[in-house]
Amino acid sequence: MKHLDTDTLDGLEGHIKEGETFRFRCHDGLTCFNRCCRNLNLFLSPYDVLRLKQGLGITAGEFIDRFTDAVLREGKHFPELLLRMNDDAEATCSFLSEAGCTAYEFRPDTCRTFPAEHGIYYDDTGKKKRVLFLRPPAFCEGIHEERELTMDAWQKDQNAEKHNAMNELWAEVETLFANNPWGAEGPNGQRGKMAFMAAYNVDAFRSFLFESSFLKRCKIKSDLKMKLKRDDVAVMKFGFEWIKLFLYGVPSNMMKMKK
Ligand code: SF4
Ligand code: SF4
Repeated sequence: MKHLDTDTLDGLEGHIKEGETFRFRCHDGLTCFNRCCRNLNLFLSPYDVLRLKQGLGITAGEFIDRFTDAVLREGKHFPELLLRMNDDAEATCSFLSEAGCTAYEFRPDTCRTFPAEHGIYYDDTGKKKRVLFLRPPAFCEGIHEERELTMDAWQKDQNAEKHNAMNELWAEVETLFANNPWGAEGPNGQRGKMAFMAAYNVDAFRSFLFESSFLKRCKIKSDLKMKLKRDDVAVMKFGFEWIKLFLYGVPSNMMKMKK
């Protein structure tokens, strides 16, 4: 989910206005079924990684090694994770089977929202709004089906609300990365590695929190400390706050460094 750098949404391709409906239904009776799950640049958010590693029953580190490639796009200051496609003629997704997506329950946000994309927009009053754009590939037959949906109904249908909430939190961190925090060491230095871990690897970040001297140097409320021991989402939210505080000096009500 990206912040949209635009003054107006008018005329932007595929924009679905609030309350406006669009037609869509995806099912295995369509000849395009599974066609969109190949040859993709599918970027994963930190929460996508969390849900996929939980669903597959592996650690975040294993998931990152086995299923992703880290890329640093031009003009960006923080690496992103691409879902690695199979090395076959059609570059199919690793989770695709003839019957459909084998990771359906924990599929990434992009797949939940497809063939729409969403972004975050600030209106004239500074109010944050989530906006949706319908941008199906030419071969998508689902958009000719009878079912009519609003943006909200579509997100509920896809069980995307938790993804949306977590991705909005991550978008706030990503916005900070518009400013290069690394100086001469670059994003592959020690601080960059720590921030990457805090963003994408909840298991390693939890070990850092509890097995390093971090808790001797930092005050955290005891109920939050308990939660961090068992709750991956809490660790990820804490990781986002940690990045904001340690790289950009944004105060956090989750942690306070001891003097
Ligand atoms: S994760 Fe599932 S829905 Fe998404 S591209 Fe892969 S097979 Fe398709
Ligand atoms: S192309 Fe459209 S209708 Fe066909 S499988 Fe993909 S999302 Fe569904």
